[in-house]
Amino acid sequence: MSIADNLNRITASIPDSVTLVVVTKTQPVEKLMDVYNAGHLVFGENKVQELLDKYEQLPKDIQWHLIGHLQTNKVKFIAPFVSLIQSVDSLKLLQEINKQALRNNRIIKCLLQVYIANEDTKFGMDFSEVEQLLCSEELKKLKNISIVGLMGMATNTADQDQIKKEFNSLTVFYKKSQSSYSSFQILSMGMSSDYTIAIENGSTLVRIGSSIFGSRN
Ligand SMILES: *Cc1c(COP(=O)(O)O)cnc(C)c1O
Repeated sequence: MSIADNLNRITASIPDSVTLVVVTKTQPVEKLMDVYNAGHLVFGENKVQELLDKYEQLPKDIQWHLIGHLQTNKVKFIAPFVSLIQSVDSLKLLQEINKQALRNNRIIKCLLQVYIANEDTKFGMDFSEVEQLLCSEELKKLKNISIVGLMGMATNTADQDQIKKEFNSLTVFYKKSQSSYSSFQILSMGMSSDYTIAIENGSTLVRIGSSIFGSRN
């Protein structure tokens, strides 16, 4: 199946209310152009340098999401154009994003990355850290960022019940937070292996790479 076929199959299988971010990490720009030419303009990258290289080479109407760990000293490179930073995991990082957003005269949308997996390798904050951050006085001072939701990754396991439980815990937390934090509108959960479970359990945005491009290695 071609990239466009895969893209159409996945787009047809997810509800209209769910946003698809095509994860383009490690893929060459020619393949990104296949996606672009099929009419899809929302791409996700996990490394700043790769994101910058591709941004420079590709059409400027693409919306770029950063979905991987972001170091504070690299925020300035993506601040002029990034559409959504999905992987915010500290107040310090938010303060730097705010500073660079102000410099670029824009408001940068962010998701807080929440740790829900039963693994040591995933970044993110736990629920209590997110709660503390959301009600902190420091956050109120940041006028050039907007926290529009949460992102989480489930454990990489074949145990569907565990994946479901993890996504569900984030959905419950998201809905609870939404009542006091009304700017929440995005719950980013689900990748190639688990996006169906994620959508069944409340996801509004899925991040899919290998099911569209084929396996990365
Ligand atoms: C790579 C990556 C994805 C996509 O993974 P696939 O299995 O290729 O769909 C989604 N989210 C994040 C944060 C990633 O790094």
